[in-house]
Parts: sequence; structure tokens; C-alpha cells
Amino acid sequence: MIQFPKDAKRIVGCDLDDVLADFISVFMKIADARYKSIRSDEYVNYDWEWTGLGKTPEDTQTIIDGVWAEILNTENFWEELPIESGVDPWLVSDLNHKAKVYFPTARAICRGRDVGEQSAYWLRKNFMLPFPTVFVSDQKGPLAAALKYDYFIDDRPKNCVEVKKARPECKVFLKDAGHNQGVVLPEIPRVMGFNDFAGIVLRGE
Ligand SMILES: [Mg+2]
Repeated sequence: MIQFPKDAKRIVGCDLDDVLADFISVFMKIADARYKSIRSDEYVNYDWEWTGLGKTPEDTQTIIDGVWAEILNTENFWEELPIESGVDPWLVSDLNHKAKVYFPTARAICRGRDVGEQSAYWLRKNFMLPFPTVFVSDQKGPLAAALKYDYFIDDRPKNCVEVKKARPECKVFLKDAGHNQGVVLPEIPRVMGFNDFAGIVLRGE
């Protein structure tokens, strides 16, 4: 009986926003433009509820809703994000070449092209990845189990916890960010950024 070859490459799940793409600063710029009383440099978004805005929950929700309304109404919004500060584009390309990298993202659907296509276009444009595999889904745990990740990185603690639970053998890393400071997760080390993560994967640690 034929023996089908196994792919020896490491399987990696890599979040997009605030790991490879700088979403937060764009979000803040929009908030700054729409709500003049708020300067983006005053933002310290300590958590996912944006309590760092220092606003009442109602005002915070108004700002968040307003920014999201603008994002959803922007044609191909996800194609124009800047690269996250510090990310080495060459290293993204190198990791993608040497490992099997999937890009799971919970990005919202905005005007224009399919969000997966926008994201793949962005990866190709910025990192020269020829055929990036993007999954638009908020089900990061089930994806990790189905795709059999060996490594995973995300800036959102909830996603890291879900992936670790769904795929315990996966080495999960929390990407350091202003909005996840103070979060300590058992079995999930913090890395300063994508470059450190890529080094760990490439060295097989
Ligand atoms: Mg993210």
C-alpha cells in the first residue's frame, strides 16, 4: 500500500491584528478624529473593555460603536493597516517558507472585497507571501484543534486560553501589548513580539 508522505513542517497559527498588523493605533486615530475631546495619545487601553479610556461605560460604548461603524463602512479597510511596529517583514516571509503558517482572524466584515481576500492581499503586499492561508473566524480553539497547530501567537488572552484548551500540545504565546498588561496565564508565556515568536519556532524550542 502506498505510503503517503507526511509534511514535516511545523504548523503555526498566527493572529493578524496587533501581532502582524497595527490595528489599535488605527482604531485610536479614528476615535481621535471623530471625538475631538479624546486625544489618541491619552489612550491607555488596558483591557478589552477599553476601561483605560477613563470614560463612563456608556460613553466608552458610544466611542467604540462609532469607530466600528466607520471601519465597517470603509472600503477594503483591512488592506490598508500598517505593519505592527517592530515586525521584521523578512522574518514573516522566512517563517512562512519554513513552516506551515495559518492566519486565523476574527476580523469583521467591512465594505469591499471578501475579508479573507483583503487579509491575504495585505499579507502578500507587505510580506511577499505568495498564497497566504487566512481563516476568518472567531472560533480559534476549534481551528487550532482541526489544523493541529504546533505553535500559536495572539495578543488576546482569551484566544490564547481557548487554543491551549483545545490543543494542549500546542506551544501558545501571548504577544505583549498595552491592552494585555498584567495578564498572567499559566502555561502561556509572553513574547515581546512576532520576531521573538518566529525565532522560537525556527529554532524548534
Ligand atoms: Mg489580535
